[in-house]
Amino acid sequence: MSEPDRQIWRAVLAHLRATYPTLSRQWFDELEPLGVRSGTLVVRAHSALHREYLTRQCMGPFKESLQAVTGRLLALRFLGPEDDLEPAPAPEAPVAGSPRERPRRSDSLVINPDYTFEHFVQGPGNRLALAAALAIADRPGKAYNPLFVHGGVGLGKTHLLQAICLRVYERQPDAAIYYLSCEGLTTQFLDAVQAGEMTDFRHRFRDVDVLVIDDIHFLARRERTQEEFFHTFNSLYQASKQIILSSDAAPEEIPDLEERLVSRFKWGLVSRIEPPGYETRVEIVQRKAALRNLDLPQDVACFIAGRINSNIRELEGAITQIQVKAGVEGRAIDLELAREALGEPGSKPNEPTIQIIIEAVTGFYGVKLTDLQSKRRQRSIAVPRQVCMYLARKHTRHSLEEIGGYFGGRDHTTVMHAVKTTESRKNQDNGFHNDLQLIEERLQPPTRRPVDER
Ligand code: ADP
Ligand code: MG
Repeated sequence: MSEPDRQIWRAVLAHLRATYPTLSRQWFDELEPLGVRSGTLVVRAHSALHREYLTRQCMGPFKESLQAVTGRLLALRFLGPEDDLEPAPAPEAPVAGSPRERPRRSDSLVINPDYTFEHFVQGPGNRLALAAALAIADRPGKAYNPLFVHGGVGLGKTHLLQAICLRVYERQPDAAIYYLSCEGLTTQFLDAVQAGEMTDFRHRFRDVDVLVIDDIHFLARRERTQEEFFHTFNSLYQASKQIILSSDAAPEEIPDLEERLVSRFKWGLVSRIEPPGYETRVEIVQRKAALRNLDLPQDVACFIAGRINSNIRELEGAITQIQVKAGVEGRAIDLELAREALGEPGSKPNEPTIQIIIEAVTGFYGVKLTDLQSKRRQRSIAVPRQVCMYLARKHTRHSLEEIGGYFGGRDHTTVMHAVKTTESRKNQDNGFHNDLQLIEERLQPPTRRPVDER
């Protein structure tokens, strides 16, 4: 790696930190740039999971920074510690999985390398769930089976599930772990039925050591998937393979869930996560800030924890707002800045215009305003349109009618529906949740140009 290349890389990281402060992690510093080869900057990550996470969650922002810094359109490739530099078309990266399972599956959820047990703050509300998760990670299939974790949105269910995957993976790199969302399960099932490939489907789900399904409550009313999952469950259970499930409700509270599944879900350990208390929230805020390399004074952490009292995702959102404001205004983080950033309760700080929202969304998704205003309903257009409406509702004082007016004269019920749909997607899909965060960062006044190191 030549010195100029190294400088480029340092500038890329600096640009990324300034432009996407919330995406940036301490461990980005440990990435090792290997140099530019035929128009592609190759960077080595310190584990296959980190590579996977970077490739699936961070590619866009990294490329953008690379382009901003070099003024060229360079491609980017992340390697894991064992990947060869040369053979170009990288196989689709593994998710948590063993060599034999190393899945080519696009439906597997990406594991966030930060969702470890070390980064999970214990409190009275999650102590039991955490203890169970640790026990399972130590002895999959032998401690509690299944583990069923339930609780409200943003209370750490996904984090805990992924921590188990990461720990098992670390201890037994050849364990076959299959981690997916309930939607993934349903989609795969329907696809398999349609393609007449049920044998494949069964192999895929039954030849694993650990099956983790996030948000299993989406099985509600999906009778045929329930039926199939019942058999999957039995087969894994009999083979002492670990099953781990999360849900927003207790088994018996999931609407229209077959009785025999309800009872099986209770065979092992059912553990409810309660919202964190004040002390736990303070600690979580500090932990999250440290992950982002952010120097957050104690009084600010307390202020945030006092202001937001349930959903931990919102705690993180508050840190983001403060972080972005400090960056934009070049100020140190203190209580005054935190107060200004979060605004007085009930007010909307730094209200962006609809124009700014449209620019941010169309830029992010690569669509045109005329598409958003058109009647087209395909997903690639409908999702950005709904995101625009959601953000306009959240960040501006325009009425539902006015917002509908901006997007092709739609009526207020359409806007309401868009807001609801986006909200629930945000709560169920971490990838989408990240996207929203990235877009919301762009709603802030233009960031300072990062130091140009060319
Ligand atoms: P859920 O799946 O229950 O909706 P997540 O697991 O996605 O919630 O958690 C939302 C965010 O809150 C994640 O960034 C997660 O890391 C964080 N979080 C939740 N609980 C904790 C905890 N006890 N310690 C640290 N971070 C937490
Ligand atoms: Mg979740």
